[in-house]
Amino acid sequence: MLSKEVLELSKQPSVIRDIFEFGMKRAKEVGAENVFDFSIGNPSVPAPKEVDETALQMLKEIDSVNIHGYTSNAGDQTVREQVAASLNRRFGTDYTGANIFMTIGAAAALGICFRTLTEGPEDEVITFAPFFPEYKAYAQGAGCKLTVIPAQEGTFQINLEALDHAVNEHTKAVLINSPNNPTGVVYTEENIQKLAELLERKQKEIGHSIYIITDEPYREIVYDGFEVPFVPNYYKNTLVGYSFSKSLSLPGERVGYIVAPTQAEDFEQLIPAFIAAARLLSYVSVPSLYQKVIGKCVDLTSDISIYQENKDLFYRSLSEMGYECVEPGGAFYLFVKALEEDAKAFCERAKKYDLLLVPSDSFGCEGYVRISYCVPTKRIEKALPLFQKLIDEYK
Ligand code: PLP
Repeated sequence: MLSKEVLELSKQPSVIRDIFEFGMKRAKEVGAENVFDFSIGNPSVPAPKEVDETALQMLKEIDSVNIHGYTSNAGDQTVREQVAASLNRRFGTDYTGANIFMTIGAAAALGICFRTLTEGPEDEVITFAPFFPEYKAYAQGAGCKLTVIPAQEGTFQINLEALDHAVNEHTKAVLINSPNNPTGVVYTEENIQKLAELLERKQKEIGHSIYIITDEPYREIVYDGFEVPFVPNYYKNTLVGYSFSKSLSLPGERVGYIVAPTQAEDFEQLIPAFIAAARLLSYVSVPSLYQKVIGKCVDLTSDISIYQENKDLFYRSLSEMGYECVEPGGAFYLFVKALEEDAKAFCERAKKYDLLLVPSDSFGCEGYVRISYCVPTKRIEKALPLFQKLIDEYK
C-alpha cells in the first residue's frame, strides 16, 4: 500500500517533461532536425572549460585532496568562504562563510527555506503566477501551503496591490523569482523597494517576521540595460536561493546555496535551522567534487551571450509577425500570448508544425505559452517560418 499523497502527485507528471519526452519520440519518427523542442530549460551552452579542467585536476590530486568524503552539513568551509567573497565583490556586502549554506541546487534551497520558516499546513508562502511549477511540490514536501496570487497584468512585475490584500497572520514568506521563469521579466529596483516597504509595514501590523525568499538561478543571465537588484540590500529578512544550474550550465551536478544575511532577524539560528531542515528533508551534504570545483570557478559563467542573441532574434521576429509578449530582461524564456483562449489547444496546433511549446496553465495562469530558447540559434532560424505559418492559420 503506497502513500496516497505520493500516488496523487505521481498522477500529475510535469507537463514540460511530457512534452520533452514527446519531442524525443517524434525525433525518432521524423528526424531530430525537424523537431523544434522549445519546452525544457536545459542550458544549451557548455560549462566553461575551466570547470572541467578544475575537476580533472582535482581528480588527479585525489590522494592529497579529500574529494569523495562527506563535507560539513552547511557545506565545505573553504567553498562557503569563496562564495561569500564572490558576493562581496559583486554586491558590496560583508559576508563570510557563516552567511552561506550550500545546497543541492535551488530546489533544495527552496525546500529548506520553506521548512525552516513554516510550522505546518496553515502557514503559507505567497508567490505570484505565472510561477515555476515545482514550487508546489517543494511546498508540499516541506508541509506548508503555497498561496498563489497573480503578477501585475501585462508587465508581470510583483503585484503589490494583490499582495497587500493577501498577507495575513499565516504568511511567513513571500517567494519571488527574477529573472523570472516563465516570463523572462526582471523586477525593477522600484518594485523591489516597494515590496520591501510593504513587508516592513506588514511585519509591524502582524507582529512577526515575514521573509522574502528570492529564487535566483538566472541571476547572471540578464540582457543589456537590465539589472537585478540584490534583494538583501533592500530588505533585511531576505533569504537568497541560488543555483549553478543555469549560469554555469551545471544542472546535473546539483550545487546551489542559500544566503542568510547577518542583518536577518533570526540570523544566529538560521544556519543551524537549515541543517536541521535539510536533515528532515533527507538532504545530507552537497556533492563534494562539484562543490569544490565551483568554489574555484565561482566568478565564471558559461558563454551566456548566446542567450542574448537568441532572445533578440526570437523576440524581434515573433513581434514582427504579430505575436504578443513582454520583452525578456533575462533568463531564457519568452512568454507569448496564445493565439486562442485555450493555450493547450494552441500548443496542439503548434505541434502540427513540430513546434513544441509549453501551455501557461502549468505555470498557474491561462492564455500564454512558454518558449524556452536555450537552444542553438540555427534551430530558432529554422523554426521562424513555421511560427509564421502558425500565425497565418489564425488570420
Ligand atoms: N527555480 C526556478 C525558477 C527554476 O527555473 C529552476 C529550474 O529550472 C529551479 C528553481 C530549480 O533549479 P535547480 O536545478 O538548481 O534545482
